[in-house]
Amino acid sequence: MHTRTVRYAVVGLGHIAQVAVLPAFAHAGQNSQLTALVSGNPTKLKQVSTRYGIPHVYSYRDYDRCLKDGHVDAVYIALPNSMHCEYAVRAARAGIHVLCEKPMAVTAAECRQMITAATRARVKLMVAYRLHFEEANMTAVDLLRSNKLGDVRLFNSVFTMQVRPGNIRVKRQYGGGTLYDIGVYCINAARYLFGAEPVEVSAFAVSSADRRFKEVDEMTGALLRFPKNRLASFVCSFGATDVSAYEVVGTKGRLRLDPAYEYVGELKQYVTIDGKTRERSFPMRDQFAPELLYFSECILTGQDPEPSGEEGLNDIRIIEALYRSADMGRPVALKGLATRPRPASEQIVKRPPVKKPPLIHVQSPSL
Ligand code: NDP
Repeated sequence: MHTRTVRYAVVGLGHIAQVAVLPAFAHAGQNSQLTALVSGNPTKLKQVSTRYGIPHVYSYRDYDRCLKDGHVDAVYIALPNSMHCEYAVRAARAGIHVLCEKPMAVTAAECRQMITAATRARVKLMVAYRLHFEEANMTAVDLLRSNKLGDVRLFNSVFTMQVRPGNIRVKRQYGGGTLYDIGVYCINAARYLFGAEPVEVSAFAVSSADRRFKEVDEMTGALLRFPKNRLASFVCSFGATDVSAYEVVGTKGRLRLDPAYEYVGELKQYVTIDGKTRERSFPMRDQFAPELLYFSECILTGQDPEPSGEEGLNDIRIIEALYRSADMGRPVALKGLATRPRPASEQIVKRPPVKKPPLIHVQSPSL
C-alpha cells in the first residue's frame, strides 16, 4: 500500500452505484478514496467523473488496464449478479481487493472461484452486506443474544416490491429472481439473528400471468430449519407493494423491525416483553460509507472482513437449495455450512444520510 488511503474503482454505474455508492465516498474520506470509474456508457463516465472529480475512467474493454494502471487498490463491484464472479476474479488475479455487491454471485461454484482467486492472490474479499453495520439490525442481534426474549423460537419475514418491467432482477441471464435480490436479506437476517446456519430448507416458487415474471419467480415462500429446532420463514415478492419487515419470537418476548432492510428512510424496532412494547426509531443513515470504512480498515490492517466470501457463499448455497426444493417439490438438506464469525453491535458505524444526486441513464428497480 502506497498510502493510508485505499483507492477504489466503482465498476458499473447503475442505480445503486449512483444513488448510494458514489455519494458514500464523501463520508469515508478518512481511509477511502474514489479514483476510478468503469462503465459501458460514455455519457455516464463523463458526467459522473466531472461531478465527483474522478481522474481515471475506463470502459469494460479497458477493465484489465484499470486493474493494472496503478491508480486503484480495490474495486466496488455494482454490476448485475451474473457479472460479479468474472469481475471479482479478474480483479483478485490482478492483486486488487474486492468489495462485491450482494448477492455474491449466482452459483456456489462461482462463489468458490471468487474465494479461491482472492485467497491465492492474498487480497481481501468482502460481500456488501450493509446491514452488518446498521444499528437497528445489530442491536437486534445483541438483544437476542442477551436472552431477554427467552429462547428464540422463530423468525418470520416479508420483503416485497413492485419490480419495474425489464429490470435486471426479472432477467434470468443477469441472475434475476426474488431470492437472489431480496430473499437474500431475509436469509442473511435469519442467520445473523439466530447466529446459526440452516440444516434443511423447503420452498414454493410461484408466478402469476404477469408478463414481468416470464423468466423468474414472482414470489417465493421459504421455510428454513435451524439447529435447536428453530424455524425461519419468509415470503419475498416482486409483484406486491413495498413491505420490508421481520419478526423474531422467543419464549418470553418478541422483536419486530418494520421497515427492516431499507437504506432509504428510518428503520423501526418494536420489542415486546411481558406485554409491554418499547418502540425505537433509527434515523436514515448512509449505509454504504460504513462498508467502505470497514473494508478499507481491513485492507490497511490485514484483518479479514466479517462479511466474507464464505458468508456470501452460505447465502448462495441456501438460495440454490431453496430453488431446488421448489423445483423438486420436497425439502432439501444442507450440510457443512461453515459457521462464521457473526456480526453484532461492535460493527455499527454511523454516518449521516446522503442527498440523492441527479441520476444519469438509470431507473430505480421498483415502480
Ligand atoms: P442496475 O441495472 O441499475 O445497474 C447495473 C449496471 O451494471 C448498469 O447500469 C450498467 O452500468 C452495468 N452493466 C454492465 N453490463 C451490463 C449488462 N449487460 N446489462 C445491464 N447492466 C450492465 O442495477 P442495480 O444498481 O439496481 O444493481 C446492481 C447490483 O447491486 C446488483 O448486484 C444488486 O443486487 C445490487 N444492489 C444492492 C443493493 C444494496 O442495498 N446493497 C441495492 C440495489 C442493488 P453501466 O451503464 O455503467 O455500464
